[in-house]
Amino acid sequence: MNQPAMVLKEGTSRSHGREAQHTNITAALLIAESVRSTLGPKGMDKMLVDGFGDITISNDGATILDEMDVQHPVAKMMVEVAKTQDDEVGDGTTTAVVFAGELLSKAQALMDKDVYPTVIIDGYQYAGEKALDFLQKLAMKVNPADKAMLKKIAQVSLASKLLAEHSEYIADIAVKAILEVTEKTPTGFKSDVEDVKVEKKAGGSLTDTTLIQGVLLDKEVVHPGMPRRVEKAKIALLNCPLEVEKTETDAKLNIENPDQMKAFLNEEEKILKEMVEKVSSAGANVLICEKGIDDVAQHYLAKKNILAVRRVKQSDMEKLAKATGGRVLSQLEGLKSSDLGLADLVEEKKVSDDKMTFVEGCRTPKAVSILVRGGTERVVDEAERAIHDALCVVRDVVVEPRVVAGGGASEAEVARLLRTHAQRLTGKQQLAVQAYAEALEVIPLTLAENAGMDPINALMDVRSKHQAKQRWVGIDPYKGRVADLGKLEVYEPLAVKVQTLKSAGEAACMILRIDDVIAASKAKEGGGPPKGPEESAKEEGEGEF
Ligand code: ADP
Ligand code: MG
Repeated sequence: MNQPAMVLKEGTSRSHGREAQHTNITAALLIAESVRSTLGPKGMDKMLVDGFGDITISNDGATILDEMDVQHPVAKMMVEVAKTQDDEVGDGTTTAVVFAGELLSKAQALMDKDVYPTVIIDGYQYAGEKALDFLQKLAMKVNPADKAMLKKIAQVSLASKLLAEHSEYIADIAVKAILEVTEKTPTGFKSDVEDVKVEKKAGGSLTDTTLIQGVLLDKEVVHPGMPRRVEKAKIALLNCPLEVEKTETDAKLNIENPDQMKAFLNEEEKILKEMVEKVSSAGANVLICEKGIDDVAQHYLAKKNILAVRRVKQSDMEKLAKATGGRVLSQLEGLKSSDLGLADLVEEKKVSDDKMTFVEGCRTPKAVSILVRGGTERVVDEAERAIHDALCVVRDVVVEPRVVAGGGASEAEVARLLRTHAQRLTGKQQLAVQAYAEALEVIPLTLAENAGMDPINALMDVRSKHQAKQRWVGIDPYKGRVADLGKLEVYEPLAVKVQTLKSAGEAACMILRIDDVIAASKAKEGGGPPKGPEESAKEEGEGEF
């Protein structure tokens, strides 16, 4: 008679109302807390060890969160904030996550005072729009062709990284690379970070990192008899193998005498020889193949003095096609000289213990590569990530040439403007807008904290200077003092700051809107990687999950 109605599957867990909100916010805060200490030039690095014992050392918010492999659904949403930030603008990942966390923590405080979540969400959305307005008005125009300026911006993004010591050298390379691939359009400039190929090789030092005018392949020439250097290269680009295809089904071949065997092998050889003939008769002196090249084919290619490289990544094939003006063909049939790509020089060079193939002086100068060097595997990995950030910020400014000062100055100024604006509002909306403004100040606060300053004193100092109309005052972590970042020429792209506000605001509101979490029972796990301390810590806070 009194049977409860079963709506959900057995084993489903459910938490709702305040409790769900509280759990969600706790999970999000744990994520924000975990990257907080890495913010800014004096931030620390994290060492992450995965299930296989591989180590990553990084300061990059997106990388850290990605490697952490979090479980909680809301924690995952925070990780996505970093990802979006990384995809859209390439920098400011830690900032976005820390800010999103602070928005949620302030929201929690308001909810504890009985402010209803929807009121907070509306207030945050309103504040977010206003903040974007203020930011746009604050931003300064720069000249996108001003190399010195671009270099400074790249240096700021590199400041918090492992290679900060060499930031000037690396920033220079990043600026040159981006300017190389930038195109003028009727309305401004177009630039794609993807056009810069970054290849890494452990060994040497960070200052051995070089910019190469062309495409760099981490592959060697396949046969010792082939030339190592081809000038005025005519390059055939293929994505089919130079091999005799094996049948898919098990076929049986009855060979009864040695003559038949010989005929069979000759036939194979003939096919391969013909393939090579096609490459050579099209006029190619270089062959770059996405698939394999048979030993016999290699031999014939070598005889024809053709330099060949095999098993090249698809993305590299596309870059090569773009750079050399060639066409990637999926079959040898019909290869013509007009399909060939052109380059001044294709050469195999020794880098450390490995050999790499350099395709230089391409038809379009729009192809550049950066060869990242550094003491160890981990150094080059982190350097590659840092260079990615630097390339992105330079691209951001070239495409939209507007900047704001760093060191938490722009956040502090927007916070001040929001507070002034909030005086015109009433009731709970005012509270929410004020909370948003305070949350913004977590950036200068955290920068001060990480620089070993007294964070509260520093923030008060920053606030009062902003009151006195010094809009670019923020934290100078190097000297551990409050300073005018405009005078120190510490600038960041407006695009990065705009995206930070957008992605953090959206994620915070989305998390606040959830008041019911219904989780299906977990499918049986089959011995995944061991759980790290982060995960177990989070599970403790999860309660219901
Ligand atoms: P994110 O992942 O958010 O980019 P970072 O660790 O790169 O995090 O730190 C970025 C913060 O460090 C920004 O707020 C930036 O303004 C600040 N910053 C970088 N260089 C300087 C500098 N020379 N002086 C003051 N602040 C700096
Ligand atoms: Mg950064």
